[in-house]
Amino acid sequence: MLELRPNCELCDKDLPPQSKDACICTYECTFCKHCVETVLKNVCPNCGGGFTERPIRPKTARRKNVSLTNQPASSKRVVSQFSREEIAEFSRDVKDIDPGDR
Ligand SMILES: [Zn+2]
Ligand SMILES: [Zn+2]
Repeated sequence: MLELRPNCELCDKDLPPQSKDACICTYECTFCKHCVETVLKNVCPNCGGGFTERPIRPKTARRKNVSLTNQPASSKRVVSQFSREEIAEFSRDVKDIDPGDR
């Protein structure tokens, strides 16, 4: 199950669970769309994989015990361990390789 992390790991923008601006990699490293497109260039700085839009967990339990209320989003903010320079350098080396071939 996704943690639904509360912020962009790079610019610290709030990404609440209903945000359509949140992108995740397969490890759920979480960034805003703007950072993914302009800084990361679809390269996760932690794992080198690509991103996809984070799905939105329903507010309403339309099935028993399955909703944002039953499984709430994480409130633990995550901050990247890498500098913008390190991230830019990493992305430069990986961005032109198709995510399926990385
Ligand atoms: Zn961001
Ligand atoms: Zn990642």
